[in-house]
Amino acid sequence: MRENNQQFNNSMPIPKKSLGQNFLLDQKALDLICSVAEISAKDNVFEIGPGTGNLSVLLALKSKKLLMIEKDEQLANRLKSHLKNSVMVVGDVLEVNLVEILKANDFSKYKLVANIPYYITGRILRLFLENDVLRPELMVLLVQKEVAERICKKDGRASIMSISIDYYGRPELAGIISRESFFPVPAVDSAILKIKMKKPTELLHLTLKERSDFFRLVRIGFASRRKTLLNNFLSGFPKQDKNFWLEVFKQAEIDSSLRAERLALADWERIRLVLVKNGFLS
Ligand code: SAM
Repeated sequence: MRENNQQFNNSMPIPKKSLGQNFLLDQKALDLICSVAEISAKDNVFEIGPGTGNLSVLLALKSKKLLMIEKDEQLANRLKSHLKNSVMVVGDVLEVNLVEILKANDFSKYKLVANIPYYITGRILRLFLENDVLRPELMVLLVQKEVAERICKKDGRASIMSISIDYYGRPELAGIISRESFFPVPAVDSAILKIKMKKPTELLHLTLKERSDFFRLVRIGFASRRKTLLNNFLSGFPKQDKNFWLEVFKQAEIDSSLRAERLALADWERIRLVLVKNGFLS
């Protein structure tokens, strides 16, 4: 497969494993990502890790402006002069000042579209979800298939990440992409994860205090995956006893023997509201 792909594209650089470089070569898959992102000439698009530019070419063609950030200086320099309506930033997406970069490019509203290295999926999602200034209107990311399935709760089990994504947006598994579509071929299949972001007025909470209390409860509830909700809360709030939490769960209509992965966004919010009603939270 490796030899075949190298013949397929003679100018292919040697991929750097340390930067998660698995280039997407399948044209149908590239087209599908663009159509899932519904890119029009009105859209500003931000791409993380354009690499050899397979996806960037399409994004630049369809959008109003394409802003790219690439950590590999060699690849960034190779690509930057080839695309119209585009700006290349050389840097690490997790380290640069993204707020300034987006502002300098008039990206107050934009779509984030990227085939990202899998080992930074979680950090990228957190970064673009949790920051009110950075949050795009839409994210279309290529992620490991199992990660997308988990986020979209295909197995009926939630995680802190899936709760966080449900909080800020509406996730959808928009397509599966076989590992054979990449060079070099990775060990896992991929999926297109589409997240339509909620408007600020659609978020559950009006204040940052309410939001931070909500996520504190979620983190404590998930602290030990094998423990029940009740036991995690007993460890996380050592001053409150079992009866306190049994009463809270009763009022919130939640089975205290459940594990956190069985709770949905609305369940966590009912727990928070009971705690507010009882004066435990303000
Ligand atoms: N977009 C290309 C494609 O679809 O073929 C390349 C995708 S490859 C999976 C990931 C790309 O992200 C690589 O070009 C890699 O150099 C770049 N990259 C890795 N870590 C990065 C980081 N922290 N910040 C910016 N780019 C990064």
